[in-house]
Amino acid sequence: MLIGAHVSTAGGLAQAHERGVERGCDAIQVFNQSPRQWRPTRWKPDDVAEFLELMKGEAIKSVTIHAVYLINPATKDREMRRKSADSLIHALRMGDEIRADGVVLHPGSTVGEPHDEALPRVGEMLRHALSESDSCRLLLEDTAGAGNTLGRSFEELRELIDLAGGDKRIGVCLDSCHMLASGFDIRSADKLAGVVDDCAKVVGMRRLRCLHLNDSQTPLGSNRDRHAPPGDGELGPRGCAAFLSEPRFEKLPVLFEGPGVEGKAPAKADIDKMRKLRANGMRARKRRGG
Ligand SMILES: [Zn+2]
Ligand SMILES: [Zn+2]
Repeated sequence: MLIGAHVSTAGGLAQAHERGVERGCDAIQVFNQSPRQWRPTRWKPDDVAEFLELMKGEAIKSVTIHAVYLINPATKDREMRRKSADSLIHALRMGDEIRADGVVLHPGSTVGEPHDEALPRVGEMLRHALSESDSCRLLLEDTAGAGNTLGRSFEELRELIDLAGGDKRIGVCLDSCHMLASGFDIRSADKLAGVVDDCAKVVGMRRLRCLHLNDSQTPLGSNRDRHAPPGDGELGPRGCAAFLSEPRFEKLPVLFEGPGVEGKAPAKADIDKMRKLRANGMRARKRRGG
């Protein structure tokens, strides 16, 4: 398991790498630009080169990009579609450039439009974005299920993958907070195992490429996306320990997105906590003989 966190790129990619190292991360996630603005930013070639050089080192083994929050591949609005597509393509090209393990994308919102029309629009945009970029994976993140957001069940994620042509580059990122909020009870190792079984059946384990470990301030099925530091929310120490020690998650990057115990950005204390929770989870599994 590659334990890590979302880190700021203020000052550039090399700085982001350093933040990851300082916090004891094996993996990092970054925004390719300000997540609440359309204005695309480009990393400078020498910054990218320095970052790729740093990535040859031992410390950070995986980098993931999180796409802009404003992107809505389900929208009908032409202007919004153009902006969303441009932004997604830009993120995937940046992913190609820095050899990211994937670009994480929220599948969008129907904004009240009929479901059966909104889903194909997502598929079409994903297909287009993949055709305009090289090889970086596109990872659909499950959502907390608020309002009209898409991606709240494995079935829906599967449908989106199929509508996008089932391309090998399309994968899934599961967020523990969103899962709990959208009604998946993953608060113990056994319950989580059942949910992962369903994921394997419906989505397929080879599509699962990235995990977000966030605890949840709001309870099971609340459909609200309010992150808590690992172990401090409704998942609690037991739920987080189970998530961090699930055998089928072993090869994946697991990223904490914050807010952490020291404020907005994840801190070293949060990463240390994740490692401790993982160790507890492993010990509990051993005791149970599994
Ligand atoms: Zn997330
Ligand atoms: Zn979230």
